Amino acid sequence: MTAGGRRLTTQRVVVAEALATARQAVSAQELFEQLRPRHPRLGLATVYRALEAQVEAGMAGRLERPGRVSAYVACTPEHHHHLVCTRCQRVEDLDESLLRPVLRAVDERHGFQADHARLDFYGLCARCRRRERAR
Ligand SMILES: [Zn+2]
Ligand SMILES: [Zn+2]
Repeated sequence: MTAGGRRLTTQRVVVAEALATARQAVSAQELFEQLRPRHPRLGLATVYRALEAQVEAGMAGRLERPGRVSAYVACTPEHHHHLVCTRCQRVEDLDESLLRPVLRAVDERHGFQADHARLDFYGLCARCRRRERAR
């Protein structure tokens, strides 16, 4: 492997590890700023490409943010559904069993057999709602 190739691999690992420990949705920009002090040679474009590579490999999910910005969350290849708090950016995995009735209804109403779905819910998490009510 060339020195350049090796550096790219190391940078991808750095990004993957940062995403895995984030436990919340982060944009490429946010992750870039978080990593910059310790990895001054890391560029925003590299962070972005590394995040997209994670999505491609099924190791991360891509989420929406206002203004057509993507946020990312570490995930497993089998899992595709999330509850995303738009206030604190916390991401919870949605229990797959909750979707079974929906998939059944899709089959009944449309005769469509879904073998793949991704469903992300955006809103306020329990903690942020409690905080909201306390105000
Ligand atoms: Zn997930
Ligand atoms: Zn929240």
